[in-house]
Amino acid sequence: MALIVHKYGGTSMGSVERIQNVARRVAKWHRAGHQMVVVPSAMAGETNRLIDLAKAIQAEPDRRELDMLASTGEQASVALLAMALKSQGVDAISFTGWQVPIVTDDAYTKARIESIDDRRIRENLEQGRVVIITGFQGINREGHITTLGRGGSDTSAVAVAAAIHADECLIYTDVDGVYTTDPRIVSEARRLDRITFEEMLEMASLGSKVLQTRSVEFAGKYKVKTRVLSSLTSPDIPLDEEMKSGTLITFEEEMDGTNMEQAVISGIAFQRDEAKITLTKVPDVPGIASRILGPVAAANIDVDMIVQNQAVNGTTDFSFTVNQNDFKRTMKVLETEVVPGLGGGEVNGDPLIAKVSIVGLGMKSHAGIAARMFECLAKEGINIRMISTSEIKTSVVIEDKYLELAVRALHAAFGLEGEAVEEKVV
Ligand code: ADP
Ligand code: ASP
Ligand code: MG
Repeated sequence: MALIVHKYGGTSMGSVERIQNVARRVAKWHRAGHQMVVVPSAMAGETNRLIDLAKAIQAEPDRRELDMLASTGEQASVALLAMALKSQGVDAISFTGWQVPIVTDDAYTKARIESIDDRRIRENLEQGRVVIITGFQGINREGHITTLGRGGSDTSAVAVAAAIHADECLIYTDVDGVYTTDPRIVSEARRLDRITFEEMLEMASLGSKVLQTRSVEFAGKYKVKTRVLSSLTSPDIPLDEEMKSGTLITFEEEMDGTNMEQAVISGIAFQRDEAKITLTKVPDVPGIASRILGPVAAANIDVDMIVQNQAVNGTTDFSFTVNQNDFKRTMKVLETEVVPGLGGGEVNGDPLIAKVSIVGLGMKSHAGIAARMFECLAKEGINIRMISTSEIKTSVVIEDKYLELAVRALHAAFGLEGEAVEEKVV
């Protein structure tokens, strides 16, 4: 008997029939003798619908109220799934984040989980129930509902798995694993049987939304055995077959000899939801970066890439990227709090950019990989506007309209195509 956490995304929970299929799959695991905790997302489209409603009433919705609203999608899902399990003869109970409780910090719309009380979960598991917990939400110390950012149910699931010391966390989604790149963009993308935690962390944080970045951080920090697999296969497939399917997140130290031969680049990630901001003609004096980015950080805005140009005639240009959702707020902070005190400088914003990244542990030991990337993009006539590198990734910012071309060209240039995977369900 093992303690297992399942997570089901929006598409997997997208209709009554799909919820019944999820229940059938969970029931199969439960009947095999496993203790089951299930973390579902809201039904497909529901979170978007709620956010659109909020925006129709308030252009920049109040963040506390937005979380109050957006969290309801998952509340509906857990109750429906509990009913579906009961109708299939399996005892189940649903809980919202505050009932567990899953305690978070105060950052509405992107809260971080601080602690999870496992008492109620354990009590109900011991009574033989399937425990169903809302993804995406928690409660802060003042008792207000918070949400964990888009795609946050992944993080809820892995965090719950860590808190209850689950044997495995299975993330069921609408693709049958992690691919070399998004299979919706590149049909030749190949499913990976395994990916290291380090690479998955980079892929996720660089835009592969198959897993939310923080879920991968939790998996790494607490060594949660995590697998990404399809919820769209028959719910009745044999358990041992299902347990081996999809993509397992591994740790570098667990790699065996066969993996030493793996490709230099494991995958290509991309992101459309960033915006670039440039301050031109800024006085080139010590402390300028902190005077620009300090107020941005104080407004709880995450900055991604940063480039400061060589000074000419005592002034310099300073560019950085932020999430598109934070674009307007960042521009406002710069215009009202930063530029007036700088003694010069103009702010220019460009939301039509995209970031493409190549990721691979092999980059640690192979020189010239970034150069190959730049050469490939040059051949396609794609201009690179910013570059950033780390040990296992190289990212470039390009014009948004070239994104798909860049991803396809790089996928081919690094030989990532594979034979079509039979179970591919996209
Ligand atoms: P869920 O609702 O189950 O959480 P998401 O839509 O959040 O599902 O994530 C799954 C999607 O992630 C896939 O449908 C796919 O289009 C996208 N995706 C992006 N990059 C990758 C990748 N490298 N491998 C697999 N899927 C990816
Ligand atoms: N329902 C939330 C969203 O759409 C959380 C999730 O699906 O993981 O972002
Ligand atoms: Mg998701």
